Amino acid sequence: MARRATIVGSGPNGLAAAVALARAGYAVRVVEASDTPGGGVRTAELTLPGYRHDVCSAVHPAALSSPFFRAFGLDRIDWIVPDASFAHPLDGGRAAIAWRDLDRTVAGLGADGPAWRRIVRPLNRHLAQVVEFTGDQLLRVPRHPITAARFGLRMLQLGTRAGRGMLPALRTDEGAALLTGVVAHANTALPSAAATASALYLVAHAHSTGWAFPRGGADAIAHALIADLAAHGGTIELGHRIDDLSALDWGDAAAGDLLLLDAAPRLVLTLPDVPAGFARAIRRYRYGPAAAKVDFALDGPVPWTHPDVTAAPTVHIGGSRAEIEAGENAVAAGRVPDRPYVLTVQPGVLDDTRAPAGGQTLWAYMHVPSGSTFDATEAITRQIERFAPGFRDRIVDSRAMTAASRHAYNPADIGGDILGGSFTMAQAFRRPVLSRTPWRTPMRGVYLASASTPPGPGVHGMAGWRAARLALRDAGTPAGLADLFG
Ligand SMILES: Cc1cc2nc3c(=O)[nH]c(=O)nc-3n(C[C@H](O)[C@H](O)[C@H](O)COP(=O)(O)OP(=O)(O)OC[C@H]3O[C@@H](n4cnc5c(N)ncnc54)[C@H](O)[C@@H]3O)c2cc1C
Repeated sequence: MARRATIVGSGPNGLAAAVALARAGYAVRVVEASDTPGGGVRTAELTLPGYRHDVCSAVHPAALSSPFFRAFGLDRIDWIVPDASFAHPLDGGRAAIAWRDLDRTVAGLGADGPAWRRIVRPLNRHLAQVVEFTGDQLLRVPRHPITAARFGLRMLQLGTRAGRGMLPALRTDEGAALLTGVVAHANTALPSAAATASALYLVAHAHSTGWAFPRGGADAIAHALIADLAAHGGTIELGHRIDDLSALDWGDAAAGDLLLLDAAPRLVLTLPDVPAGFARAIRRYRYGPAAAKVDFALDGPVPWTHPDVTAAPTVHIGGSRAEIEAGENAVAAGRVPDRPYVLTVQPGVLDDTRAPAGGQTLWAYMHVPSGSTFDATEAITRQIERFAPGFRDRIVDSRAMTAASRHAYNPADIGGDILGGSFTMAQAFRRPVLSRTPWRTPMRGVYLASASTPPGPGVHGMAGWRAARLALRDAGTPAGLADLFG
């Protein structure tokens, strides 16, 4: 009889692990709390009929470079790769645009153009090397030390007060804001070296593979993975939330059965016989502030003052670097900012499947303290209106999801933290425990496979793949991506 693999959670990491293990010959069962599979890659009519909104992730820079997705087959999804990776409107009708074409971006940034090129060029030229050393646990000698050193130096120069003071890089409002809009994805106190590292990774993608997203919605990613899982005999059980792993029949570790958790790592503590040291380390793992999201149904495109902002599906809102940093620091200190940083995605500028003819959807969230019940509709509307007067009149419906309800929607999003754990340098190494193999637990057959393990948040499937690969190695049947997908 085939060995069994039970996976709790059907997010992109859980599904990546499921697909890999099913292809390796395991009888795979995925157990999912929600009535719809996909975790962070779900799309639904959250407002009016015909308006399809991405419930969690909307744009997927990390998928296109992910070794897992590349082996799985990127062509199984209809990706839209925008010419403009992201835009950043500023007061006075100004805007900075990160075009996929680096030269065009440099030309648009004026005095900061050469600095932007110096920051990006060594990284986007060697994107595979950047992905290699950021895509694994960090307790190792990097395979490409020169690229890693360049990355580290830029991180310190741009992401610390000392670095900025000694070697100022971006001096204009446009250049500084363009970078800060990406740094702020990390939802942490700024400036931050860890947040800057994640921004450098994303900016390198912006000027190489691009910030792509699937036509039709993020759920296309889940559908592709689930179809492959089904083709290899795997099943998904929906509406089955696991609060106590000791009550779950996942088989017999001694017989080679596996349990993988695409869930909050603390769930592992409900197993019997967890060694005290490991339990302490898991309890020490920290979660960060949260996201409060609003999905808008519009009767036309967002009326941005600067026309080029319409070219970019992803738009970072919040004004200058100083203003964004103040807002993010307020959140880190437990307050809801008056003028928040807002991440928006307008997929309809390139994808006409998201809304009935003439309509548009807008996906937006701001950062708020953990567990907040703040409804972000008015705060987000006000910030967008600042750079797109008339936006308010385009809204035909909206739906808010507070940080508290996000946690109820996905038990892995503790307190509404959508990054699977707070984004600090310490936790870049200790995710969720300090180990060269953080996916493996001390309990035989049990692995952690979620965004709370390296390489962290984002839709790349790599945490799931690394957990599955380690499980296969431990079982004495090592397999690489090429063995399973070649
Ligand atoms: C609002 C929002 C916006 C985002 N935007 C982007 C973006 O644009 N681009 C990007 O790359 N990333 C984005 N992310 C992050 C990205 O979605 C996540 O990093 C990614 O989905 C993590 O994948 P995962 O498989 O580890 O976990 P998840 O996708 O969170 O999936 C975990 C799954 O496990 C289930 N589960 C958890 N606990 C249990 C349990 N106890 N019992 C049963 N089932 C359980 C959950 O219901 C969920 O379906 C966003 C996330 C959110 C929430």
